[in-house]
Amino acid sequence: MQVRPGCSLDTFNTLRLPARAEWLAEPASDAALVALLCDTRWAGLPRTVIGGGSNLVLRGDIDGLVIRPCLRGLATLSDDGLVEVGAGEEWDSVVARTLAAGWQGLENLSLIPGSCGAAPVQNIGAYGVELGDVLVSLDAVSLRDGEARRFTAAECGFAYRDSRFKSAEAGQWLITRLRLQLRREPELTLGYADLAERFAALPEAARNAQGLREIVCALRRSKLPDPAELPNAGSFFKNPVVDAATLARLRSTWPDIVAYPQPDGRAKLAAGWLIERAGWKGRREGALGMHAQQALVLVNYGGATGADVLAFAQAVRDSVQALFGVTLEQEPVILGRATATA
Ligand SMILES: Cc1cc2nc3c(=O)[nH]c(=O)nc-3n(C[C@H](O)[C@H](O)[C@H](O)COP(=O)(O)OP(=O)(O)OC[C@H]3O[C@@H](n4cnc5c(N)ncnc54)[C@H](O)[C@@H]3O)c2cc1C
Repeated sequence: MQVRPGCSLDTFNTLRLPARAEWLAEPASDAALVALLCDTRWAGLPRTVIGGGSNLVLRGDIDGLVIRPCLRGLATLSDDGLVEVGAGEEWDSVVARTLAAGWQGLENLSLIPGSCGAAPVQNIGAYGVELGDVLVSLDAVSLRDGEARRFTAAECGFAYRDSRFKSAEAGQWLITRLRLQLRREPELTLGYADLAERFAALPEAARNAQGLREIVCALRRSKLPDPAELPNAGSFFKNPVVDAATLARLRSTWPDIVAYPQPDGRAKLAAGWLIERAGWKGRREGALGMHAQQALVLVNYGGATGADVLAFAQAVRDSVQALFGVTLEQEPVILGRATATA
């Protein structure tokens, strides 16, 4: 397998930030991956995994070995819809192919960019469904020594846009394969009002998982800028979860604050609403801005560096903190050296 030196990552991240990998490898089989991890030429070098680069802020060049797994494959393992998929498969292609084969369960997660291997890292979620709802287990190898391990869903530590792979053990594992439990029977999740309304308006014959996928795709296309046209990393901040007392305090000043009740009594605030009220919706400063239709999406109009992105994001976070006393947490993962690229 070729390991390329000094490889540009500019087109490997959807924010189109400039950065290089000291070494870049794209293993396409388990054997190639393990050989790479055990090869003495790379011993002692830092190891970093990237997928489609749709949830990254590349702050600068990445030292050591950058691995972009290209493990392919989509197979049905059992008659009841247990499906196995390789880390290098594109997520939305798997959603489309499983639905076409009559397996349901991923339709709400349609059109989320990126690879299958990255999907468990932040427990991707949309329209009331998260990966953790369907994931049974995953295989991973230790980036340190190539040791293989299987994690059950319970062992993945899934939470809202989080897992053990994003927090407690960030950067320690390379996920190679996922097993997802899908189903034949329709059991659609229609908790979001605009989804439910559009679904109800479909002709009866189209009220199925495929019809729901098409609605999700249309909604996403109407709301989110396409990174191919306007570089971005999707939602730049998580929706902050606050306790009941904090919500009551905020409501007394902001009666129209958007808040979703959580099962534990807390409330999830709409970060986009907070950002809009803090005056950032559609505001541009130099190469960067918060999108005019979707205040939660930070966009690169061209020429920004990772350092610019982090400084701009900090200014947004500071405004929201000052106005509401609420701390925004960044969703995309920061990779690369803190110094500027050459
Ligand atoms: C327009 C747009 C819309 C989006 N909408 C959503 C949404 O609705 N819901 C949502 O949850 N996310 C959303 N995202 C974020 C993003 O699509 C997901 O986080 C996606 O899973 C990232 O996949 P990726 O392959 O691009 O990973 P990358 O961005 O390359 O990497 C993300 C993280 O995963 C790690 N990683 C990547 N591959 C592996 C692997 N095989 N093993 C271990 N670690 C790995 C990386 O080291 C990094 O820490 C959106 C992004 C964009 C640009």
